[in-house]
Amino acid sequence: MTSPRYVVLVGPPASGKGTQAVRLHEALGLTHVASGDLFRENIRNETALGMQAKSYMDRGDLVPDDVTIAMVLDRLSHPDCAAGALLDGFPRTLAQAQALDAALGAQGHAIGAVPYVAVPDEVLIERVSGRRLCRTCGASYHVTFNPPHTPGVCDVDGGELYQRDDDRPETVRTRLKVYHDLTSPLIDYYHEKGVLIQIDGDQPIDRVTEDLLEALRSVKEG
Ligand code: ADP
Ligand code: AMP
Ligand code: ZN
Repeated sequence: MTSPRYVVLVGPPASGKGTQAVRLHEALGLTHVASGDLFRENIRNETALGMQAKSYMDRGDLVPDDVTIAMVLDRLSHPDCAAGALLDGFPRTLAQAQALDAALGAQGHAIGAVPYVAVPDEVLIERVSGRRLCRTCGASYHVTFNPPHTPGVCDVDGGELYQRDDDRPETVRTRLKVYHDLTSPLIDYYHEKGVLIQIDGDQPIDRVTEDLLEALRSVKEG
């Protein structure tokens, strides 16, 4: 049996991490673990965790590290992550990155690759404003760049498409600032560990997928 593969997608909000993760999951078979999706699922189910996370998310702030780390590490302990996982949106702070390293290290594992999906801020604003998500499966569309076959309807399961509350322009500005202040230091952190791979995310969706697959296939299993 090969050792588990842990891949972390780093990039600003709306850089295309979720879009690419679905495609990488299909190509590589790794379970997609998206912290934002986990929070939104908790909000939908009205759990205590969801209620706690909602006020931070509505403002565009990060949910506190202790809550977020516990949620994601719990998710990684499920059997479908035994062969590894494709992490999307976590870690977002140095404390989260260190907690993830410690948890994987305690099991003799490590992160194998960290693709950094680079996209300029002005492009992100355009992507966020046209983003639509499926209420049922969470699939991400864009009204112009990645439209569903029928407007407002998910191609996968016919679910209703909606706009995220935190995709409003004023919240997006906060999210971008939080990204630059708290998350972008992870680029250096992972670069120093020798696992960072920079990917040009400002290309058509298929091209980004090709670049990601080429980069990940050339990385030895970690
Ligand atoms: P993230 O998960 O990083 O927040 P998403 O995958 O939800 O980002 O993508 C944000 C928005 O941009 C979505 O509306 C998506 O359809 C669109 N998008 C993703 N990748 C690209 C791309 N390469 N070119 C144009 N639009 C894209
Ligand atoms: P996302 O779906 O990745 O854009 O995340 C949506 C929101 O969920 C963020 O703006 C944060 O409020 C919260 N969130 C998601 N992941 C994290 C994380 N790793 N740390 C803290 N907050 C997070
Ligand atoms: Zn759907």
